[in-house]
Amino acid sequence: MAAPQEWSMSDFEIGKYIGEGKFGKVYLAREKQSGYVVALKVMYKAKLEKYRFHAHLRREIEIQHGLDHPNVLRLFAWFHDEERVVLVLEYAARSELYKVLRAAGHFTERTAATYVASLAGALAYCHKKQVIHRDIKPENLLLDIEGRLKIADFGWAARSNAKRHTLCRPPFYLAPEMIEKKAHDHAVDNWTLGILCYEFLYSSPPFEADEQDDTLRRIVRVDLTFPSSPCVSSEAKDLITKNCEFESSKRLSLEDIMKHPWIKKNAEPSGSCIKQKGLGRVKPVLI
Ligand code: ATP
Ligand code: MG
Repeated sequence: MAAPQEWSMSDFEIGKYIGEGKFGKVYLAREKQSGYVVALKVMYKAKLEKYRFHAHLRREIEIQHGLDHPNVLRLFAWFHDEERVVLVLEYAARSELYKVLRAAGHFTERTAATYVASLAGALAYCHKKQVIHRDIKPENLLLDIEGRLKIADFGWAARSNAKRHTLCRPPFYLAPEMIEKKAHDHAVDNWTLGILCYEFLYSSPPFEADEQDDTLRRIVRVDLTFPSSPCVSSEAKDLITKNCEFESSKRLSLEDIMKHPWIKKNAEPSGSCIKQKGLGRVKPVLI
């Protein structure tokens, strides 16, 4: 895939450093002509080559560039020079959901349901476009200035009309069929939604164990228990239980999740709950 050549670094005023990625750094930037604020993910070709990440990156670009949904981080453009490949991304001003979750401890049911509903909507959109994300985890979920969830990092995503066999995720969020290296499809993202919902409400994922092998064993046994504290409604537990089904075909569909009584009762239709604990107001960005 050839990069459109019309963009270069000189089109942007580079602002503050935002974060470190595996292959380079992410900066706040302003497109000079429009004044539009974006995030530039600057990756070094030497590093990409060393880790043979070209194919992944190409896939990330192809997939993310074709997606346009309010809860999917937009990839506006990309370009490269001698040393670098640069992705021009939508800026998610409130950064990682992971950090917000760690700061808050756990979310209220309103916040958790709002994020689960946003995720379900975004995944339904991706699945309709034959894209399975396969790496949904709090670190890959960003928040925009209004606190709306954005799925990022499509490096592990796959285009899929058929079932796939490759194992490609860290253990806590893996679905049983991926651990057993069976064919898997979009239902792996649905499983992860159940795991994330649990983590949002209880602060850690359900199958955690000291040893990785024990985590994997607990997942395959669906060893799901609900702590007595914090107090969580039975409707929330019902949604989690129905997503953490061993048999992928028995899991709730994304449409069923969006219609689930817990979501209906708790989720903010706007997708934003910025007045929640841990989500104080931020000033508009000036670089
Ligand atoms: P890793 O796999 O370790 O997460 P990565 O190579 O995928 O690294 P990113 O996750 O894309 O890199 O970026 C690194 C960090 O920069 C993120 O964790 C996040 O904090 C920040 N970041 C990335 N993209 C954006 C964005 N569009 N808006 C705001 N912050 C961002
Ligand atoms: Mg990342």
